Parts: sequence; structure tokens; C-alpha cells
Amino acid sequence: MDIRNIYQEVLLENSRDKTNVKEINANYIERGHNPSCGDDITLLLDIEDNKIKDISYLGQGCAISTASTNMLINLIKGKNIKEAENILKKFFSMMRENKEYEELEEVNILRFTNDMPARIKCTTLSWHSLEVILNKLKEKNESFI
Ligand code: ZN
Repeated sequence: MDIRNIYQEVLLENSRDKTNVKEINANYIERGHNPSCGDDITLLLDIEDNKIKDISYLGQGCAISTASTNMLINLIKGKNIKEAENILKKFFSMMRENKEYEELEEVNILRFTNDMPARIKCTTLSWHSLEVILNKLKEKNESFI
């Protein structure tokens, strides 16, 4: 099987997986909206002691945005904030420079959406939401110092 077929398969599998689509007891919620495609996905995070204890999503989106969100959740669930920040940085570097990173695991296949400029917003939607949440967390932590 060539890499393109694997990419299609992993994308569809993640898009159809609804185990992460649920309400959770979240203290950080961020909605991502991509009007050009109609994706409307809200990330819910339960962060305690600098750890992502639980994470889920709600809303609707195309196959790429829902697959990307599902992969994000599977990758950062249970990680601490520093690890999540590192993954986020690697993700945007992968998208920008078309690089592969071991830490990103199957998320690496999302770099193939770079070939479709109209869909990049679908891929990055929830990652931008995560970025907003991590920035909020940083501001909050800094205000304690
Ligand atoms: Zn989309």
C-alpha cells in the first residue's frame, strides 16, 4: 500500500471514530470555526496540576477537521502542559516545513493536506484552539508569580 492510501485510511478511521465526541467536566473550552468549509469544532479540556486529565470535542466538521481533532486528542490526552506545548510546536513546524517528527506519531500524515491549500484550515483548526488554551493557561500561571 502506498503512503497516500495509508493517509486516506488513517484519515477516515479517525474521522469516523466518535469515542472522543462527548461532554466532559471541562475547565477549558475553545470553539474553532472555519467558515470557508463549515467546520465548527469545540475542544473541551480538563486540566489539573498542569496535566491534561481529559479532553474531548463537540461539533461538526469535514473528514479532515474531525480526523485531525481526533488525532490531536489521542496524542495529547494524559500529557503535561510542557509536553503538549512541545507537540503543538512540532505540529506547526511539520505543517510549515513538511517535516516528520517521531513524537507526532500518526499525526505526521496530516502534512499531506499541505497539498490542498484550501484544506489547511481544516487540519489546523483544533490545533489553533489548543494553542489559545495553552496561551490562556500560561497567562494565568504567570499572573500567580
Ligand atoms: Zn473542513
